[in-house]
Amino acid sequence: MSENIYSCSYCGTTITTNSSPNQSGCNVKSSHNWVRLGEVGNNNYQCRDCKIVVKTKSSPQQVGCTKANSHYWKKL
Ligand SMILES: [Zn+2]
Ligand SMILES: [Zn+2]
Repeated sequence: MSENIYSCSYCGTTITTNSSPNQSGCNVKSSHNWVRLGEVGNNNYQCRDCKIVVKTKSSPQQVGCTKANSHYWKKL
């Protein structure tokens, strides 16, 4: 099963998992709001606004930026 990268749209934490992420433990709200950014791959992308870096196969999902309306991904 392929692994996916998720980030929480409240706290910006990213995790890699092949199952549904656990929603407890958010330090901004009572539970994480995970957004699936994409399948794990060999390309590094960084968001210009919230600065998180993720390794995905193709350009990550734009929803869920903690600093702007949407992520603005730049390939590293
Ligand atoms: Zn969170
Ligand atoms: Zn962002």
